[in-house]
Amino acid sequence: MLINNITDKYNRPFNYLRISVTDRCNFRCAYCMPKEIFDSGYKFLKKHDLLSFEEIVRVVKGLESFGLNKIRLTGGEPLLRKNIEKLIHKIKTKTNIKHLALTTNGSLLTQKKAKLLREVGLDEITISLDSLNPYINKKLNPLNDDKNVIDAIYTTLDVFNFVKINIVVMKNINDSEIFKIIHNFKDTNSELRFIEFMDVGETNRWDVDKVITSEDLIKKIKKTFNIKKSHPVLGATSQKWKLLDYKASVAFISSISKPFCNTCNRGRLSADGKFYTCLFSTHGNDLLQVIRNSPKDDVLENLFSSIWSTRLDKYSLIRNLNKNIKIKIPKIEMSYIGG
Ligand code: SAM
Ligand code: SF4
Ligand code: SF4
Repeated sequence: MLINNITDKYNRPFNYLRISVTDRCNFRCAYCMPKEIFDSGYKFLKKHDLLSFEEIVRVVKGLESFGLNKIRLTGGEPLLRKNIEKLIHKIKTKTNIKHLALTTNGSLLTQKKAKLLREVGLDEITISLDSLNPYINKKLNPLNDDKNVIDAIYTTLDVFNFVKINIVVMKNINDSEIFKIIHNFKDTNSELRFIEFMDVGETNRWDVDKVITSEDLIKKIKKTFNIKKSHPVLGATSQKWKLLDYKASVAFISSISKPFCNTCNRGRLSADGKFYTCLFSTHGNDLLQVIRNSPKDDVLENLFSSIWSTRLDKYSLIRNLNKNIKIKIPKIEMSYIGG
């Protein structure tokens, strides 16, 4: 396959795609899908609006020629999408994608499912965890399923021999839990990723006062654990640190305090086939219509080329530089665009 690496207006390449396979979820995390908004009246996408697995593979094949080599399946809750293992198998057998990962809340990840996902070629799983305290978990997410989530983490360690754990840290809500989480997983082959609470979407009542910066967390963690900063990886959203006395590592995703827009190499594909060049884009490019209306691959490729080569997004950086100015754009929900 001929690869014609593409760059945007700030010379940023494109090599990573996050694919949301559904906008639905069986959880209602307050920072993502607050229960009072995402209730029985909420209008989720209809089945016929979703990209089929064949259509997703067609998009992936089209974008591979521009340098795409890494994919994360997400949502909503990706394990709610029926037969997701078939999509994983198709991507792994029909494309040249090197790294295929999945982010899940873990509640539906049984041992059998994990083994199946591994067999069909999934490379890595990230599981989201709020805390180890059932009371805090229920407060953050009334539909939380503590036991299954923790079981899923150990199942992933067993089947994949490695797990990434995402923890969105909210001030005075679950920040007291970080030490317990590190203690609990310190001897496992895991990466504990502490994420600053982000101002994504319009419904999660984000407020800067609810954010704990990575810098503050690192200072706190250093008082108890020996940690050493690893070499930064170009294009990575997280900064990794080694826990010197233990097997696990910790990582910090500082989207609010230290935005990484300058090296942002990722695009997002929503479950209904809209391509977004930024988590905070207000407009998605309708690839579903393009591929349903045209069997010719060059139509998709020409469109993508014009989208990426004119990309100018730097939302988090601009917000960070203009702390006193409220950026007023209608933001898209994380559960739809794919976290
Ligand atoms: N349902 C799956 C899960 O929770 O892992 C996948 C989708 S979820 C939207 C992907 C990731 O986004 C999760 O790790 C979640 O914690 C994170 N996330 C959601 N809302 C966030 C927010 N406001 N700030 C930071 N991270 C957020
Ligand atoms: Fe669902 Fe994941 Fe959002 Fe929680 S973070 S509500 S599990 S999509
Ligand atoms: Fe990338 Fe947009 Fe996030 Fe900046 S704000 S890192 S451009 S997704």
